[in-house]
Amino acid sequence: MAKDVTRRDVVRGLPLYQQGIIPGSDAVKLSSNENPFGPLPSVYEAVSRTLSGFNRYPSMGAEEVRSVIAEHVGVDMRQVAVGAGSTEVASQLMHALAGAGDEIIFPWRSFEAYPILTQVAGATPVPVPLATGLFHDLDAMAAAITDRTRLIFLCTPNNPTGTVLHTDEVEEFLAKVPEDVVVAVDEAYCHFTKEEGAVDGMSLLEHRPNVVVLRTFSKAYGLAGLRIGFAISSPEISDDLRRVATPFTVTSLAQQAAVASLAVEEELNERVGQIIAERTRVFDALVEQGWTVSPSHANFLWLVTGDDTDRVDQALTSQGVYARCWSGEGIRLSIGLPEDNDRAIEALSQAIAEV
Ligand SMILES: *Cc1c(COP(=O)(O)O)cnc(C)c1O
Repeated sequence: MAKDVTRRDVVRGLPLYQQGIIPGSDAVKLSSNENPFGPLPSVYEAVSRTLSGFNRYPSMGAEEVRSVIAEHVGVDMRQVAVGAGSTEVASQLMHALAGAGDEIIFPWRSFEAYPILTQVAGATPVPVPLATGLFHDLDAMAAAITDRTRLIFLCTPNNPTGTVLHTDEVEEFLAKVPEDVVVAVDEAYCHFTKEEGAVDGMSLLEHRPNVVVLRTFSKAYGLAGLRIGFAISSPEISDDLRRVATPFTVTSLAQQAAVASLAVEEELNERVGQIIAERTRVFDALVEQGWTVSPSHANFLWLVTGDDTDRVDQALTSQGVYARCWSGEGIRLSIGLPEDNDRAIEALSQAIAEV
C-alpha cells in the first residue's frame, strides 16, 4: 500500500469541491451566478489579440490592468492587487495576515470559500450565523473578535442570501474593530445593488486603513472563465498581497479582457440593468406563486425552502433547470436570460402545485 503522504489533518477534513452538474444542451444552468450574456465584441477582440502571444509569461506586476483599475476607482496603482479571481485575492489576504492559531471571522451562511481557504491558510474559521432576515449579525460579529482575530469578512450583497449592508451599520461596526484587524468587504455583486444607503467599500477606505475592498470581473463583467479579480487597500496591505501571491496566475488574456471591459462600462451597465429587471420579474412571479424569497440585491434569488429543499431541487432538475441547493436550507437561483428564467418560473410553479 502506498504511504499516505498528507501530513495535515485539516486537509483531509476539507470537502472536495463539487461543481454543479454541467447540464446538457437543453438544460438551463442557473447554479453559479454567472453572467448569462456572451462577451462584448470589444472585449472579445482584445482577448483575441492576446492569443498569438501565449508563449510568453503574462506581466507579473500586471501594471497595465492595475493602473486602469486604479484610475477607474480613483486610487493609486500601488493600492491595487490582482489575482485569478477575487477568491484568489481573498486567499492571498488570509495567507498574508493569518497563520496557525489566528482567527478569521465571517458571516454564515455566506461564500463557501471563506471557511475552506481559512483552513488551507492554517487559520481558524469563526463563522457567525446570520440574523433574522438573513442579514449579517454585526453585533455578534463584533462580539466574536478576540486577541487572535486577524481578519473579518463582510459580504455585501451576501452570497447566497442577496442581502446588502448599509453604510451606517458598517461604520458603527468598524468603530468597534481594533485597528490591527483587517476588514475585507467582499463586493463581488456590487454592480447589482441599487439600494439607497448600501455600503460602498471604497468610501470607507479613506478613513479606515484596515479596510480592504474585494471585487471581481467574474459576475457583472462576465469574465468568470478567464479568472481575474482585485483588492483595493492601503499600499502596505497591497504590497503584502503581492508578496504572498503565486506568480503569474493572472493570465495575459484575463489582464487584457479586464482592461477592455473597463472601457465599455456603459454597455456592461446596460446588461446589468437587464439582469436587475429580470431579477424583479422572477422575484415577483415566485412570490406570487407562494414561495418565500429573500429580496435580493445581487444576480440571484434565495428561496427559503427548508426541509422541502431536496424535493424542490429535484423538481427543478427534472425540468432541466439547475440551481444551487443547500439541503435543509434553501435554493439559490441565478438570474439568466429571460427564456431561462421562464423555464425556472414554470418548473417552480409545478413544484409548488405538488405541495
Ligand atoms: C463569485 C464570488 C467571488 C469571486 O469569484 P471569482 O470568480 O473568484 O472572482 C467572491 N466572493 C463572492 C461572495 C462570490 O460569490
